Amino acid sequence: MGAMATCTTQLSPSSSSLFRSQITKRPFLFPPAKIDRHGFSPRRLKSLSLSHRSSVSASVASSAEPEKSTRTLPFRVGHGFDLHRLEPGYPLIIGGIDIPHDRGCEAHSDGDVLLHCVVDAILGALGLPDIGQIFPDSDPKWKGAASSVFIKEAVRLMDEAGYEIGNLDATLILQRPKISPHKETIRSNLSKLLGADPSVVNLKAKTHEKVDSLGENRSIAAHTVILLMKK
Ligand SMILES: [Zn+2]
Repeated sequence: MGAMATCTTQLSPSSSSLFRSQITKRPFLFPPAKIDRHGFSPRRLKSLSLSHRSSVSASVASSAEPEKSTRTLPFRVGHGFDLHRLEPGYPLIIGGIDIPHDRGCEAHSDGDVLLHCVVDAILGALGLPDIGQIFPDSDPKWKGAASSVFIKEAVRLMDEAGYEIGNLDATLILQRPKISPHKETIRSNLSKLLGADPSVVNLKAKTHEKVDSLGENRSIAAHTVILLMKK
């Protein structure tokens, strides 16, 4: 998420109350089936109503024509991508771990590129809007937020939809610093935040061959693919 900030300040309210504060009475316009193609019941859809910009609601409405299928998918796959600019004077937080470096992410929350893209992968698998729409960077509430808050909310939504993590594969892309000494700590913390067995959480890291902003230590990016399974 491009505008999430660098700060490790923890937010005290629970993730669900934070999310509920984003709620309005306008529901998503998903098919009026008992259980829709996303695996959500109408009761659940009410709790997922969002107050994000009208353009978002309009695009959801126009793209969500009623469909005949009422089956609940046994598996759902999701992909997440995130990139942040690196600037001197900020901490580098990856997967909730403070990594020693000469620069970090300038963003609205703590700028945790890995957690942001994992959240987007979960939301994508559930067929929900992206992290920027659910936690808008225009909202001062998220300034300096620890990204673990976003993970907890995504896990709550996954659980509510009746899914659990099958497995997750993430790739960090950065030129410096070397991630190998921190990889297991990051992976272990990510597993903990997700409430998942470490054996289903995989983390890879690679450089960008000194090419472009990623390769010039001016940015950091991450990709995540996740498989959710119906509980
Ligand atoms: Zn981000």
